[in-house]
Amino acid sequence: MDDETDNHPDADDHAVVLGAGLAGLLAARVLAQRFARVTVVERDELPDTGPAFRRGVLQSRHVHVLWSRGLEVMEALLPGITRELLAAGAALMESPRDFLWLSSADWFHQVPGARILVAHRELLDWTLRREVLRDDRIRIRSGSPATGLVATGESRTVTGVALREGGPLSARFVVDATGRGSRAPAWLTALGLPAPATTRYDSHLGYSSRYYDLPPDPGRRWHGMYVQGRPDSPRGGVLVPLGDGRWLATLIGNGEHAPPTGEEEFLDFARSLRSPALYDALRDAKPLSSPTGFRATSNERRHYERLDRWPAGFVVLGDAACRFNPVYGHGMSVAALAAEALAESIRGLAPREIAGAARRIQRRTAASADAAWQIATSEDMRYSETEGPPPDRATKVLQRYMERVIVGANADPAISRPFFGVLSLSASPNILLSPGTVIRVLSKWRLPSNPSAAAYPAHHGPPGG
Ligand SMILES: Cc1cc2nc3c(=O)[nH]c(=O)nc-3n(C[C@H](O)[C@H](O)[C@H](O)COP(=O)(O)OP(=O)(O)OC[C@H]3O[C@@H](n4cnc5c(N)ncnc54)[C@H](O)[C@@H]3O)c2cc1C
Repeated sequence: MDDETDNHPDADDHAVVLGAGLAGLLAARVLAQRFARVTVVERDELPDTGPAFRRGVLQSRHVHVLWSRGLEVMEALLPGITRELLAAGAALMESPRDFLWLSSADWFHQVPGARILVAHRELLDWTLRREVLRDDRIRIRSGSPATGLVATGESRTVTGVALREGGPLSARFVVDATGRGSRAPAWLTALGLPAPATTRYDSHLGYSSRYYDLPPDPGRRWHGMYVQGRPDSPRGGVLVPLGDGRWLATLIGNGEHAPPTGEEEFLDFARSLRSPALYDALRDAKPLSSPTGFRATSNERRHYERLDRWPAGFVVLGDAACRFNPVYGHGMSVAALAAEALAESIRGLAPREIAGAARRIQRRTAASADAAWQIATSEDMRYSETEGPPPDRATKVLQRYMERVIVGANADPAISRPFFGVLSLSASPNILLSPGTVIRVLSKWRLPSNPSAAAYPAHHGPPGG
C-alpha cells in the first residue's frame, strides 16, 4: 500500500486528495481522468464490510437529504450510482408530493417541486466509495492523518503532503477536502503564504436526532416530513425513512430553542412545533437510540479565491472551503458541483498544466457555492440573533420578496416550479426575478400579515389517519 510514499518516480503523474468524504471521493474520481494515480489520504480507518459510523463524519447521525442537482452531478460522474443507491435502500422522493412540508407560510400543496434522494449518510458514503474504487487508478490510504503541505520554490508550488506517520507523499496536485475541520489556513501560513479571510453567519441552530423503528402503516401516503421553523417560532423537525426499517427524526431550533438530547424531552420538543403532525407520527413509534446533538452549524466561507498569492498544485474543496447551515440541505450538492467545476477546469489539460491552473481552479470551484451561500445566509439573516455581517438594503428587499414567493409557491405551480428549481440548485436564483414570476408573485398573492398555518396538510390530513 505504501508505493506512493516518499519521492516516487511518478510523482509528476500523481494527485493526492485529503479526505475520503463526499467532496474528496468525487474529486478523486475527476482527477483519475487526468492523472495516472490518485491517492486519497483519510484520517479515519474506513469500514470495509458495509456502511458504518465513523468519527470523521460526525454529522452522519442527522438527516441528510440530497437535492436533485447534486444527484444528477454524481450520476454524471459515476454512471449507475443512483441505481446502486436505490438498490441499497435509498429512496427517491418528489418534494412536496411525497414529502409533506410545512413552509414558513403554510403547508405546500401537491404542487410541482423537486426530486430528493433520502438515504442514511453512511450508506451514501459507502456506496460512493465502492463505486469510486472500481477505478484502479484510485487508492485510499486510510488511518493516515495529513498534517501539512510540502512546497518548493519559495512556496510557489505545492509538491506533496506531510503525514502524521511515514514520509511525505509527493504529488503534482493536492486537493484538501478534509471537511469543516480543515487546517489549510494554518498549512498555508506555515509555508509563508497568507491565510484566507472568512465570512461567517451563525444562526445558532441546534440539531438533535434519534432513530425509530418505522411503524407499519399501509394507509400512510407520505414518506417524509419537514415542519419548518421560522423567526417567530424557531423550532422545526424532519422525519425520513432510511430504507432499512428505520426512521431518522431530526429536531432543530435556534438559540435557546435548540432541541434537547434527553429522551423524554425529545418528544416534548416535537410536540411544541408549529404543527402536531411530526409529533403525531412519532409519539407511538419505538425509539431505537438515544437522541444525539449537533451544534456547530454556522455558514462559513473561507475566501481562498480572493488571495493574491496562491501556490501552484493546490486546491481546497467541499466543506473545507465553504460550509453551510445544514438545514437547507445543500452541502453535499455543493461538493458535487465543485467536483463538476473541477472536471470542467481540467478538461484536456496535462498534470503539469493542471498544477499551474490551481488558482483558476480554486476560483471556479469556489463559485459553485455561490447560489447555496446566498440562499443560506439571506435566510439565516431573518433571525435577529444571527451573528454575521448585517443584511444590506437589497437583501432586505429580497427577503420580503421571498416571503411572498413562498406563500405563492405553497399552492401555485407557476411559482413552485421556479422556487424548487432554485432550492434544488438546478436553476439560478435569478429565475425568481424573471418578469413573469415577479408579476405573478406580487399580483396574485397577498401576504397575510401573520400567516398561521393549518395543523395538517389539506391533501393528507393527520399523518396517523
Ligand atoms: C448536522 C448536519 C446535517 C447535514 N445535512 C445535510 C443535508 O441534508 N444535505 C446536504 O447536502 N448536506 C448536509 N450536510 C452537509 C454535509 O454533511 C457536508 O456538506 C458534506 O459532508 C461535505 O463533504 P466533505 O467531503 O467536504 O466533508 P466530510 O464529509 O466532512 O469529509 C471530510 C473527510 O476528511 C477526513 N479528514 C479530516 N481531517 C483529515 C486529515 N487531517 N487528514 C486526512 N483526512 C482527514 C474526515 O475523516 C472525513 O472523512 C449536513 C451537515 C451537518 C453538520
